[in-house]
Amino acid sequence: MFLILYGIQGSGKGTQGQLLARRLGIPHVSTGEILRTLSLQKTPEGQALKAQIDNGQLISDEQMTRILEHHLPDSVILDGYPRTRRQAEMLDDIATVDHVLHIELHEEEAKRRALARGRHDDTAEAIHYRMQQYYREAAAILEYYETRGKLVKINGDQPIEDVYVEICRALNV
Ligand code: AMP
Repeated sequence: MFLILYGIQGSGKGTQGQLLARRLGIPHVSTGEILRTLSLQKTPEGQALKAQIDNGQLISDEQMTRILEHHLPDSVILDGYPRTRRQAEMLDDIATVDHVLHIELHEEEAKRRALARGRHDDTAEAIHYRMQQYYREAAAILEYYETRGKLVKINGDQPIEDVYVEICRALNV
């Protein structure tokens, strides 16, 4: 099963991804985590990635997709990708997506949660910038999957357990 968890920063993609991975016995792959690991390398590539991540900038679609390809099993819960419509198109060239779970959450609560998790790239400025980027691309990405009949809407404005139950019901697992 190839699942995508889609939603604004702070919507609970990481948390739900881990819960689902355990339930379904398939890996949870977070592009943010892959990039944070690569950014620890003291190579020019690592240093360049670190600068981009710390500023909340997106890695280019080409570089991101190249990196992702090396970490993509057939069955997966993908979190953090696609961030652009172009990435959605590129993914269709290398994988077959079954469902895209859109965890819906309004901006205020998303900001509050993202700030509370205290990751080192989660400064108020970086979060604000990433959310602007999110809204710039969100409509196009959602439309892309909606027209292909792959979009499932999940109410993210509820406790973790309830979001999880809603997702499991939607997937029939
Ligand atoms: P995340 O953990 O999903 O919040 O991602 C952390 C950072 O990694 C983002 O702010 C971007 O700089 C980078 N990143 C993660 N996923 C992608 C992606 N699909 N495309 C471009 N940049 C990404």
